[in-house]
Amino acid sequence: MSISQCGICYTLSMKKQILVSGLRATSEPHIGNYLGAIRQFLEKQEDFDCYFFIADLHTLTTAFEPEELRKNSLAVLADYIALGLDPKKNTIFLQSQVPQHTELAWIFNCITPVSELQRMTQFKDKASTDVKNINAGLLNYPVLMAADVLLYKGEVVPVGEDQVQHLELSRIIARKFNNAFGKTFPEPKPILNKTARVMSLTEPTKKMSKTGGAAILLSDSPEEIKKKLRKAVTATDATGKSEGVDNLMYLLKEFGNQEQYDFFQSQLKDNTIQFSHLKDALAEAISEHFKEFREKRKKLLEDPEYLAEVLATGAKKAQAVANKTMEEIKGKIGLL
Ligand code: AMP
Repeated sequence: MSISQCGICYTLSMKKQILVSGLRATSEPHIGNYLGAIRQFLEKQEDFDCYFFIADLHTLTTAFEPEELRKNSLAVLADYIALGLDPKKNTIFLQSQVPQHTELAWIFNCITPVSELQRMTQFKDKASTDVKNINAGLLNYPVLMAADVLLYKGEVVPVGEDQVQHLELSRIIARKFNNAFGKTFPEPKPILNKTARVMSLTEPTKKMSKTGGAAILLSDSPEEIKKKLRKAVTATDATGKSEGVDNLMYLLKEFGNQEQYDFFQSQLKDNTIQFSHLKDALAEAISEHFKEFREKRKKLLEDPEYLAEVLATGAKKAQAVANKTMEEIKGKIGLL
C-alpha cells in the first residue's frame, strides 16, 4: 500500500524514534564528555524525538557539594545550549524537576534482583575507589537510569562503552515488566559511540574524568587549555609506546586539521618531534574549536532567567509524557 493510500502508514513513517540521554552534573563538561557524548547528541537532534536531561539525581550517588551541584547543573544546561542543542526542538530538563523519574525507579527497584545490580562493573569500580561511600543509590544507579529512559518509552540511547552494561539492564527491566504486566515498554537499543576514550593528561592510563583537575573543560580559557596541556605526560614505556602521546595525537585529529596531524605524525616517526610544539598546536586547535561556544556560554550564564525558563518549559513537556506513562503503569500494577 502506498503512502497516499494509507493515512496511518504516513503518520507512522513520520514518527521519529524516541531518544533519551543525560549527563551528570558532577562538574562542568570536559572534552571527553564532548567527544564521547554531547557531540553525538548534536548530530541526533535532527532525526530523533530527543529528551536530554541533566542527571542531578545521579550526581548524588558520589561525593558532592550542594553549591557545586547547583552551579554545575546550570553549567551543563548552558553548555548543552551553547553547543547547539535547541530547547525548541528537544525536551531539555533537569532530572529532579520531573519527580516521576524516582517514582518509576522505585517500582523498578521492586522487580530488579539485587544480584543483577551487584554484578555491574561500574558499581564494583566505584565501590572499590570510594569504600567509605558505598551507598544504596550507587547500587541502584542503573535502576534510576532504566526509569530515566523508559519513562519516555525511549527506544534509543546514545552511550559510551561504559554505559552499555547499564543499558542492557534497562532492557532486562523492560522485559521483566512487560512479561509480568503486559507490553508497556520498548526495549531500548544503544547507539554505541565509537569515539575512542579521551585519556587523562597527567595519568594517561586512566580516562579523562571530572575529578582530579586534569580534564580540559569546554569552558576553559585559551590560557588554561595551554597550561593544562603543557603538563601533559608524554613519557614512553619500555616498548617505546606512549599512551600520553597517543592521546594528544587523537585530540589533534579531532580538533586540528589533517595537515597539522600529518606533520606531527611524520615528526613522531622521525623522532624529531618537540612535544611543546605539539601541545601548543593542540591548545590552539581546542581553543579555536570552542571559541564561539565560550562566548555563547558566557552570555547564557549571565541570563539565569532565560535558563530557568528553559528548565521550566522542559520540565513541563517531560512531565506531560511522564504522567501519562505513570498512569498507565499504576493501572497495570494495581496502584489506585
Ligand atoms: P559522566 O557524566 O562523567 O558519566 O560522563 C557522561 C558520558 O560522557 C559517558 O557516558 C561517556 O559516554 C562520556 N565520557 C565521559 N568521560 C569520557 C572520556 N574520558 N572519554 C570519552 N567519553 C567520555
